Amino acid sequence: MKARKRSFVRGIESATLGASGFTSVDSKSCVVFNAFACNFPLSSALPFIASEVVQWQASHGRNHLPWQQTRDPYRVWLSEIMLQQTQVTTVLGYYERFLQQFPDVASLAAAPEDDVMALWSGLGYYTRARNLHKCAKAVVAEHGGHFPRSAQVLATLPGIGRSTAAAIASFCFAERVAILDANVKRVLTRVLAYGEDLSSSRNEKSLWAMAEALLPHQDHQDLHHAMPRYTQGLMDLGATICMPHNPSCLVCPLQEKCQAAQQGNPQNYPVKTRKTKRTSQAWWLLVLRSETGQVWLQRRPSEGGTTGIWAGLFSPPVFADVSSLEHALQALQVKVRERADWPAQLHVLTHRDLFLHPVIVDIAGAGKALDATVLAVEGGWQAAQNWPQLGVPAPVRKLLEALAAE
Ligand code: SF4
Repeated sequence: MKARKRSFVRGIESATLGASGFTSVDSKSCVVFNAFACNFPLSSALPFIASEVVQWQASHGRNHLPWQQTRDPYRVWLSEIMLQQTQVTTVLGYYERFLQQFPDVASLAAAPEDDVMALWSGLGYYTRARNLHKCAKAVVAEHGGHFPRSAQVLATLPGIGRSTAAAIASFCFAERVAILDANVKRVLTRVLAYGEDLSSSRNEKSLWAMAEALLPHQDHQDLHHAMPRYTQGLMDLGATICMPHNPSCLVCPLQEKCQAAQQGNPQNYPVKTRKTKRTSQAWWLLVLRSETGQVWLQRRPSEGGTTGIWAGLFSPPVFADVSSLEHALQALQVKVRERADWPAQLHVLTHRDLFLHPVIVDIAGAGKALDATVLAVEGGWQAAQNWPQLGVPAPVRKLLEALAAE
C-alpha cells in the first residue's frame, strides 16, 4: 500500500495560503495546505493528474463538438450555459439555431426577450435564458461588446458562476483557473477519496482549493494549449468515463492514481449526507380552444423576474385543482361545445414531479377576449402558426403539437 501511495506522490515541497484563503502552490508537487479542515491531513500531497488528463483528452476526449472549434468567448459562453444540466445531444440543435438568429453578442443583446425565450423553448431551466439575455446586454453596455478575459470579471456577469467563468477563461484565454461543475466534483472527489459532504460550503471551498492545486503547473511549457485541454479533459472524463453509477475505471487514465478506484468504492463519492426531498405537485391546465382552432395562452407570472416554474413563459391557465378550474370556466361565461379531460402527464423537474392534467374545452365562436380578473393575468388567443414563435415550456409544446395533430 505504501509503495502504491508513493507512486502518485510527486514529493512534498512548501505551499502557502493565498490571500483569497485558497492554497497557492509553488512547485510541481501539488502540495495543498488544509485551509478548510478538509479530509486530507495537513500538508498531505495530492496526486498530480494534469499530464494524464491533458494527454488522454488529446487522444480520447471529445474534440469535434461545434463549440470546440473556436476560441470565440461568445460561442463558448453560449455552449457552457446551454450545457448546464443538459445533454450534449440536446444542445446541438439549439446551439446552431441560436447562432443562426444571434450570430454575436450584439445581436443577442438587441433582441426582444420574447425572441430569446422562444428560441430557448424546450431546453428547460428558463432562468438560464433570461440571464443569457441580461448577460449579453451587460457585455455590450459595460464591456464595449467584448467578453472580459479573466474568470474573476466574467463571474460578475449575470448567470455566470465561478465554474462557468473559469471554463470560458480557460478555453478562450488559457487562464490557469479551476472548474468545479457537478461532473468534475464527481471525478475529483473520487480521485482524492474526498470524504466530506459538499453541501457544506466549507467543504466545497476545500475542494476548490484542491482543484486549483491540481491545475497544470504555471511553468508548463505550453500552458496555452494545456489549460483548454485539461479543462475539457476533466469535463469529458466526468461525462463519458467517470459516470455516477457505472464508472469505467478500467479505461480511465486516472485509474492508478484514483483513491476511490484503489479502494473499490467510487460510487461512495461524492459523499451526500443530506438528501434533497422530492416533492410532487398537480396542475390542471385549462386548454380553451376556439372554433377557429386558436388556443388561449397567457404568460406565467415571473415574480422578481426569475422565480417560479415556467416564469415568463406562455401556457394555458393553470389551476391547483379541478374544482378551481371548473369554477373559473363557469365565471368566464363561455359556451362550451365539448370537454375532454386528457390523461395526466408527468413532467420531472430537478426536485419535483409535476403531474399535468390538461382539460381541453372547445368553445363556440371564434374566441373573444377573456376576463383577466378570472384568469389572474392577461392572455390572448393564439393561432397554430404563432405557437412556434412563443416561449412555451416543453410539456406545453407537446400538448400544442398533440392538439394540432388532432
Ligand atoms: S478511476 Fe474510476 S472512479 Fe477514478 S476517476 Fe477514473 S472512472 Fe472515476
